[in-house]
Amino acid sequence: MTHSETLHAAGLTAPDLTGGTLPVHSPIDGAEVARIRETAPADMAGVIAASQQAFKAWRDVPAPRRGELVRLLGEELRAAKAELGAVVTLEAGKITSEGLGEVQEMIDICDFAVGLSRQIYGLTIASERPGHRMMESWHPLGTCAIISAFNFPVAVWSWNAALALVCGNPVIWKPSEKTPLTAMTCMKIMDRALARFGDAPAGLVQLVIGGPAIGEALVTSKDIPVVSATGSTRMGSIVGPKVAARFGRSILELGGNNAMIVAPSADMDMAVRAIVFSAVGTAGQRCTTLRRLIAHNSIKADLVAKLAKAYASLPIGDPRHATTLIGPLVDHPARDRMVAALDKARAEGGTVHGGAPVTQGVPAGGAYVAPALVEMPAQSAVVKTETFAPILYVLGYDTLDEAIHLQNDVPQGLSSCIFTLDMREAGAFLGAAGSDCGIANVNIGPSGAEIGGAFGGEKETGGGRESGSDAWKGYMRRQTNTVNYSAALPLAQGVKFDF
Ligand code: NAD
Repeated sequence: MTHSETLHAAGLTAPDLTGGTLPVHSPIDGAEVARIRETAPADMAGVIAASQQAFKAWRDVPAPRRGELVRLLGEELRAAKAELGAVVTLEAGKITSEGLGEVQEMIDICDFAVGLSRQIYGLTIASERPGHRMMESWHPLGTCAIISAFNFPVAVWSWNAALALVCGNPVIWKPSEKTPLTAMTCMKIMDRALARFGDAPAGLVQLVIGGPAIGEALVTSKDIPVVSATGSTRMGSIVGPKVAARFGRSILELGGNNAMIVAPSADMDMAVRAIVFSAVGTAGQRCTTLRRLIAHNSIKADLVAKLAKAYASLPIGDPRHATTLIGPLVDHPARDRMVAALDKARAEGGTVHGGAPVTQGVPAGGAYVAPALVEMPAQSAVVKTETFAPILYVLGYDTLDEAIHLQNDVPQGLSSCIFTLDMREAGAFLGAAGSDCGIANVNIGPSGAEIGGAFGGEKETGGGRESGSDAWKGYMRRQTNTVNYSAALPLAQGVKFDF
């Protein structure tokens, strides 16, 4: 299929794709595939006002009925899975299986949110006063702004939107300026679900297109109580304080620098398979990509040799081909940043295997690279920095304490794992003095989370939680209720105030 056939199959029409100012390029071959209209900054006030109006109606719709809208969205996504997945591949450069996997993740979170719509539970609490009852109620909070990154161009929206909608909140989505077409395709799918639902208020689900300035309008608006922002630590360091300054709530999902500890007892074949998928999948452009391998010195050389062999056999090329495992980087500046990081690693004493740009056997115009393995003498500055590319730094260790110290000694705190068959080591890694990340796994790589768990990380990753478990509480306001059904008015803590 040509790019325009892919876009048309997904329901995007010529007026959607032309006549605007924002050029959209496909990472596959660098071709400009559309020039779309951006939201004017002057229109943002109207967008936000429409969302507030929608909130007034949506918050009174019973949660299970709100769940029906998300159920319909899940149905529409199932029907459009192939077409939307193909746009993810076209616009983000993901291999076909990962493009489809991203849509499956959307379907999964819809299923989860439909169940949640009948399970928004609060506690009842024992009151210290006779004839009194205490409980917690969870109420809708208001508009949720969703600012998303290029590398999960649709799943991140659905993690937030599916929960926010069943929680009673309208959503306004500002996708990455690099991936507006997947967002526009999603909105068409959402519009079909809204039409079938019938009586959802206008302005319930909105899309705005543009760069940081459009994001800024959402970040600074007092009328947007929740801002969920996914992207670089740099972006979070700007957005977080601005939301906090107006006492808004932010859910920050920022950069990671994820590690795997490989202990001497590990199942090496399994570890190699997990390392290769986690380090080179999505061409190293996942927030949970494996970037640091901390291998016991007794097995390190053997592990590096096995990895070098595996790396040499990985098919790099057009992400639409069934056999390709490594597609392109998002653009040429991303490849320049990879080359610069490898130069820095060499200057810091590293030995680099692979990592060269690939120009043969790949579509012309795309930024293709061979994944890099870099043996480092120490966890130097370059290792502590997230470079969004398939670079795996390898470090050695002698004691588990040393390995855990290395794992934690970076500014980011998203995902982590240990490969070991020793239950004491696994227990220590998961314990209070173990991994300091939001995600810690045993005998599973750091990349590729399921939607059932709360997703997010600590430190410079931002502290936000999305998706499963009780992450829904981030989209609601908690109210403590005390009801007096007695004929007396006792005060708490035995205070007397008779008059
Ligand atoms: P980015 O920070 O360049 O952009 C992310 C989004 O933020 C875009 O929509 C962008 O327009 C917007 N933005 C940028 N500056 C802004 C500002 N000042 N005000 C408001 N909005 C602003 O990130 P990217 O290159 O698209 O994505 C890659 C990064 O995202 C990596 O660091 C990756 O680790 C991270 N990421 C994190 C998670 C997670 O869940 N923790 C998931 C995916 C990606």
